[in-house]
Amino acid sequence: MEELVSLCKRRGFIFQGSEIYGGLQGFYDYGPLGVELKNNIKAAWWRTNVYERDDMEGLDASIIMHRQVLRHSGHEATFSDPMVDNKKNNKRYRLDHLVKDQKADVIAKVAEAMGQSAENFPAVVAALNANPAQASEALRAAGVRDPFSGEVGEWTEPKPFNMMFKTTIGPVADDESYGYLRPETAQGIFTNFKNVVDSTSRRLPFGIAQIGKAFRNEITPRNFIFRVRELEQMEIEFFCAPGTDEEWHEHWLEKRLSWWEAQGVPRSKIEILDVPKEDLAHYSKRTYDLMYDYPTLGHEEIEGIANRSDYDLGSHTKNQSELGLVARVEENLDSIAKLTIPHPETNKPVVPFVIEPSAGVDRAMLAVLSEAFTKETLENGNERIVLKLKPHLAPIKVAVIPLARNKAELVDLARSIKNDLQKLGLGRILLEDSGNIGKAYRRHDEVGTPYCVTVDFDTVGKGEDASLTDTVTIRDRDTLAQERVKISDLSAYLQAKLR
Ligand code: ATP
Repeated sequence: MEELVSLCKRRGFIFQGSEIYGGLQGFYDYGPLGVELKNNIKAAWWRTNVYERDDMEGLDASIIMHRQVLRHSGHEATFSDPMVDNKKNNKRYRLDHLVKDQKADVIAKVAEAMGQSAENFPAVVAALNANPAQASEALRAAGVRDPFSGEVGEWTEPKPFNMMFKTTIGPVADDESYGYLRPETAQGIFTNFKNVVDSTSRRLPFGIAQIGKAFRNEITPRNFIFRVRELEQMEIEFFCAPGTDEEWHEHWLEKRLSWWEAQGVPRSKIEILDVPKEDLAHYSKRTYDLMYDYPTLGHEEIEGIANRSDYDLGSHTKNQSELGLVARVEENLDSIAKLTIPHPETNKPVVPFVIEPSAGVDRAMLAVLSEAFTKETLENGNERIVLKLKPHLAPIKVAVIPLARNKAELVDLARSIKNDLQKLGLGRILLEDSGNIGKAYRRHDEVGTPYCVTVDFDTVGKGEDASLTDTVTIRDRDTLAQERVKISDLSAYLQAKLR
């Protein structure tokens, strides 16, 4: 992981946010190559989930939302993590993170004090969350140390900490003039359900997809871009008739696993966690968490696929009592819209069930980069670092390299080849005229460029072999094989490889 983090900074994938002022914890900036990789991941997700299906629509809702949205969604009341304070130094920690970071014997003592087995950490967390007074006693008795000071802490009773960012809207900062930065993109989909149905004439089953920023004031952001305060999500809300939800849930589980596989994140590295009933979020009937085996971190959630029943539309609709809702929802006297759709069989208005595959873009980046990061020993004994990204995700698709930077003839031809390739719409093509071919290859291995095209003296008819005039060398990142291809065949060649 450390090597990957250093490569990300060195090569311009990911930087600490606000770095020149000391950095801001939980915020990261994506650099010249990071933005390309991120865009490619999002485009791949959009292509699979919107363009290649006939039952999906897209959406881009606003980030700041009316407080009533987040009130009726349940976030004001329940979108919190348990937090404990160390009275000795006023440091605050998320309870489960604090315990997880202890030595094994301390974790075992906490588990025992909570009547749980340390083997089943989620059950230990659930017990801690459910019994604040006992939890604080368990931390004390086990001698839980403060990760910052390294000393045994004096722990308060855990209390819930709401993770939403609140912001003032308009020039007057009174009690009413505030909204929230959305903590998930999902709510924008629910609040636009009627707009999308009315404008597209969609009938069940169908889904709405959205990619966008979400904000969570995490108590302890950490592990590079795994847990951040400003994140990006790729979410689908798939609406279906009650009774068909379980089948759709399985459908989406399968679809999502195969999508991850196509991005270079194999199934063998993802564990499917069927979240135990007692740990389910307030809206969920059943949830599968996809737990990817991150280097150093171990299995952590990369995507959640939840059956949200009719909770969300049921919470945001008016006339709740007439709609035969299955989920238990809070009364809503604020909404002005009835969020129903004709049942596909009876044609009677129904509040649909929702299946929600929700993946994090930042966590996807980390997984894709982790899988691609490879160290090889070459035949000559040298070590090579190479990012074996799937070509459709590579930030730079092709680097066109003139063999000598001070030979205008080579540089001009390389530039013209670059311009022609750029028109194919494959993504970023780079003119790499740094002048040192060995360094250029090394750099492009490290950033995952699948092909390097070199323009040399043979290309312009000034080499030893006249038959090589108007041909270039194509170097394959993974096999290191070099092939001589006619310039006139280059577009077709690369298109076939990169599409
Ligand atoms: P965790 O338990 O790890 O905090 P969560 O269960 O709160 O995650 P969800 O609410 O299910 O996460 O969010 C859906 C997806 O959004 C997650 O699978 C993850 O990929 C991403 N995500 C959530 N919180 C963060 C975060 N703080 N930083 C980066 N990605 C996040």
